[in-house]
Amino acid sequence: MMKFNSLLYVFVSLILCIPTIGQDLNLCGTDFVMKKYINQYRPNYSKPIIPIDTGLLNSVYNSNTKIIPIVFHIIHNGHPIGEEENISAEQIEDAIRLINEDFNAINPDLDNVVSEFINSVGDADIEFRLAQLDPEGNCTHGITRTFSEMTNQANDCVKSIISWDDTKYLNVWVVEDIDSEIGAAAYTYLPGTLWDNEIEGIIANHEYIGSIGTSSNTPYKRHTLSHEIGHFFNLSHTWGYASNGDQNNCENDDNVSDTPNTIGAYSTCNLSQETCGSLDNIQNFMDYSSCTCMFTNGQVNRMQACLNSSVSYRNNLWSNNNLWETGTHPDYTSDLCDPNVDFFISSPNRICALSSIQFIDNTPILSSNADYIWSFEGAEPDFSLDQNPVVMYSEPGQYDVTLNVVTDLGTNTMTKTYTVYNSSMNLLESFENTNFPLNSDPSLSWSIVAPETETSWARTPISSTSNTGSVRIRSRFFDCYQKHYLYTPNLDLTNFGLGLGEPLKIWFDLAYGKRNNDTDDLLVISYSKDCGKTWQVRASWDTDELVTTDGNNVGNNFIPNNNEWDEKSVNIQAAAEQNDVIIRFEFTGDRGSYLYIDNVRLTGEWIKIDNYSILKEPYIINTIDLLGRVTNNSKFKIEIYNDGSVNKVYNFN
Ligand SMILES: [Zn+2]
Repeated sequence: MMKFNSLLYVFVSLILCIPTIGQDLNLCGTDFVMKKYINQYRPNYSKPIIPIDTGLLNSVYNSNTKIIPIVFHIIHNGHPIGEEENISAEQIEDAIRLINEDFNAINPDLDNVVSEFINSVGDADIEFRLAQLDPEGNCTHGITRTFSEMTNQANDCVKSIISWDDTKYLNVWVVEDIDSEIGAAAYTYLPGTLWDNEIEGIIANHEYIGSIGTSSNTPYKRHTLSHEIGHFFNLSHTWGYASNGDQNNCENDDNVSDTPNTIGAYSTCNLSQETCGSLDNIQNFMDYSSCTCMFTNGQVNRMQACLNSSVSYRNNLWSNNNLWETGTHPDYTSDLCDPNVDFFISSPNRICALSSIQFIDNTPILSSNADYIWSFEGAEPDFSLDQNPVVMYSEPGQYDVTLNVVTDLGTNTMTKTYTVYNSSMNLLESFENTNFPLNSDPSLSWSIVAPETETSWARTPISSTSNTGSVRIRSRFFDCYQKHYLYTPNLDLTNFGLGLGEPLKIWFDLAYGKRNNDTDDLLVISYSKDCGKTWQVRASWDTDELVTTDGNNVGNNFIPNNNEWDEKSVNIQAAAEQNDVIIRFEFTGDRGSYLYIDNVRLTGEWIKIDNYSILKEPYIINTIDLLGRVTNNSKFKIEIYNDGSVNKVYNFN
């Protein structure tokens, strides 16, 4: 019966529990990340004593409004500004308006506070201002926009993409989704939790920033940022440092005298809720109820004490010097602010001839009435006034793209050079060119896309199965499993049949040794048939599957001998008869030694080329066997000519 009841309870809960927070997200992941961090990195941690905890509660603090410089780092997926996670400047300004209401006790929903807590409502007297000077002293609007796949499973790693000095700015990273392990709308750390050299700030899902755009005007979303800033200023949840809803929470305190002990509410608004013998303050911003609207006087004292403390340099944020340095001082005026012009392409990897490509403005400005003036050398159209224009190139080559942005506060220009790719009719790469990945013809180059802060794929003369060169990569110093991509040139595979013979395959030689038992590497091979817009995974190998040595740990600087290279092949038959095919080597890893790749080539059933225009006598550039190995001794060999044509040679003598 007991069992039946609990099953029934679960069943009823599933029906009744309409997730008003949305997407099964917890409101806040702060306690989760703090416990995880402390267990992992600071097992002997005891929380630094912030003055409020030692009797400074009654000290007279600076009675002026404290101004906090704030910067929003939008980590986006490549959407144009104002779409999805790349939220608009208006949404950020709306969020600033809301937190300033909440921290000055002028938010309209304060009218709903029940009579028992009206006298407890606290006015924190804190004003947040978007930074007007960046860490280098350049003019800014307090918003940065950076493209990174890390936005999809964001955790502290996004801080490595971009962060400003956290002793001077409150950093807020806006992301598509927070790491599913944390599973929250937002999180931060209480001051003093992280080691001194680690950046503090708030990471938040874009749907919980402000009340417009991708967010909405529900109490959860409207006040999420105020809840996180409460943590950032040393407030715990009203139920203490424990799990929401746990009956044992009545024994926990949040170290604030005028927030009654509670086990906490979750997604409900029962204004007469009593969980620990007295009326709960479920309207408190630091609860998870669906009707939060207030801080208490005790919480304000605790936040003010935090801001007066040097723990995590919170007392520097609002110092007079810092307000001048960040351009947030009330007397600071800046007439001009030239926009920091930036743009990117919709497909981050390639531009292909005769394939449309969108250029996307990435200039972080507040003004919505900016003018955008684009010029495109060699494209159609070659000029546009759209913010995010679509153009097409007809010929491979290298072309300049210039964007000029004009706003009320200034104007600026950025020029970038893009390569429009040609397609080569075969792939035979032994990494002999010391300029790798660049080819003497740029439109036939390999390319590498990787985090700038990590040493990525690079040519090396140290070991090779061809002549002297190969490419290698090592994850020993990598962080956060960021992806390192190595792309082949565009391939014209229309010469490969759908056929009767061998399926189309990419082959390569690989050498890999496991550095130690903590090594965690992964190599994934994919191809794209649409100029890099979409990718199909064809093969992957993890650490143990990659090993080509006897299996013993190889240490930091693995150099393979001749016996430690293996051949790998990946079936890509579905790409046969296609043009503008790209093959991608994707490497992620942690604490590994070197992985080497050499002698990349294709095999498959070639179709005879009859109508190839030959201006001069073609010559053989390589002879390979059925497996793509360079050889002259095989009974069956394929001669590859400089013009892309091939000749099959059978030698039955
Ligand atoms: Zn929280």
